[in-house]
Amino acid sequence: MKIHEYQARDLLVKFGIPVPPAITVDTAEEAKAAFEKLAAEGATLAVVKAQVHAGGRGKGGGVKLVKTADDALEVAKTILSKPLVTHQTGPEGVPVNKLLVAAGVDIEKEYYLGMAVDRASNAPVLIASSEGGVDIEDVAKNTPDAILREPIDPAMGLQPYQATKVAYKLGFVGKQVRQAASIMIKIAKLFIDMDASLAEINPLIVTPASEAHPDGQVLAIDAKITFDDNAMFRHKDVAAMHDATEEDASELRAQEYGLSYIKLDGTIGCLVNGAGLAMATMDIVKLHGQSPANFLDVGGSATEEAITEAFRIILDDENVKGVLVNIFGGIMQCDKVARAIVSAAKEVGFKVPLVVRLEGTNVEPAREIINAAKADVPTMSVGTDLTDAAQKIAAAVAA
Ligand code: GDP
Ligand code: MG
Repeated sequence: MKIHEYQARDLLVKFGIPVPPAITVDTAEEAKAAFEKLAAEGATLAVVKAQVHAGGRGKGGGVKLVKTADDALEVAKTILSKPLVTHQTGPEGVPVNKLLVAAGVDIEKEYYLGMAVDRASNAPVLIASSEGGVDIEDVAKNTPDAILREPIDPAMGLQPYQATKVAYKLGFVGKQVRQAASIMIKIAKLFIDMDASLAEINPLIVTPASEAHPDGQVLAIDAKITFDDNAMFRHKDVAAMHDATEEDASELRAQEYGLSYIKLDGTIGCLVNGAGLAMATMDIVKLHGQSPANFLDVGGSATEEAITEAFRIILDDENVKGVLVNIFGGIMQCDKVARAIVSAAKEVGFKVPLVVRLEGTNVEPAREIINAAKADVPTMSVGTDLTDAAQKIAAAVAA
């Protein structure tokens, strides 16, 4: 589960990580008022930031520095007026409904700090770089050596000696070292305590030296946190931060029926039981020259109701030119599935070709049910095996 930056910042604050003051707003007028409030507290600069789940906002025009309240108003109007397109959103972009207005800070240098699970060491890992900021993906790709990794014992958490070592390696000096190490320990604790799957501060910054802070101040000015969905039952407060407007509507609908559905941009709708089989089905559709319109796993115990809903979701996608059903009846019995497919197909009404491939328990009676229903669902045909089914649907769509 993803949350917004303003919510992630609240969590940073809860774990004691310093961030500049900020106000979350819904309208451009509120953004202006927020600037005035921050200015009254001493800010001379503010940053207006689009609150969307996608990253890369800075490069996409979703993060703007402003120096006056009127600038804040204008910039906020512009950002709220259209979908924000970043390299993570796709060309249609995502709507912006909220803004964060943060006190702007002068930046001496930007760093990257992140926590993730490292499959290689089977442990959480602290990831850090002195080359932080909006180009971190390029750094990871072109100069991977500029990225440090410090594995963490999940029972012990990040140890102070580890954090200090990383802080020195990143090039922090003087009083910055303790500040940076303390932030590392806190983000590691947040990651483990909150069952996060990713917790990123990018950039972590150092401010220029000032009289009050001769060594500069280390601050987090952007945060991105993603949580493990399977742990949300023990973090009700985090679960409540879920913003459904950021999700694909059909994916949410699928969730309600216990279906794992991810929309893709091809033309062949796939209805499959089991995630592995769903992926193999997508592969074989590709192998025969077409592209899947979705990933859909109806699960091991899908009801007729869930299968009907699955068909509805698939057919609501106007790109879908044909549907491939691929069911392996292990625990699930093929004849029950066949009955569900037929009644769902009748109820939903099929105009596009539908090819059904069934295998496993009670497959013979299942095929009879499908064959007997051909009059009611004229676009339906049976595949003798997966290759045959994939060829049939690919040919039907290409025709
Ligand atoms: P992202 O592009 O979605 O990761 O958004 P960020 O919040 O990380 O902002 C992008 C970039 O804007 C940062 O890397 C900074 O260079 C710049 N930026 C953000 N906040 C401030 C600020 O308070 N002061 C200054 N000078 N730059 C900022
Ligand atoms: Mg950032």
